[in-house]
Amino acid sequence: MATVSEEKGSSPIRTCLGCRQRKMQQKLWRFAVDTNGRVMKDFRGKHDGRHAYCCQDNSCLQKFFKNKKGLSRAFRQQVLGFDEGLKDLFGSEQ
Ligand SMILES: [Zn+2]
Repeated sequence: MATVSEEKGSSPIRTCLGCRQRKMQQKLWRFAVDTNGRVMKDFRGKHDGRHAYCCQDNSCLQKFFKNKKGLSRAFRQQVLGFDEGLKDLFGSEQ
């Protein structure tokens, strides 16, 4: 299987699917997808499998959620919807 080579002592870099910028993984929110194609928060990385990342930023999040094609590609699975819990992320927004 493919293993990602990560040097010891350096933070992994991931791409935000909202703005497409590459950032340290720890600065990004992590998302997973369930078997029903529903995207959910996985900030603690408890889900196995593929993840998608987004900046901790509302404008990025909005692009992230609209980028279903990018999400489907990141998860290697069709994205059909979003978990209810994701609404919390927009809590501070008008
Ligand atoms: Zn971003």
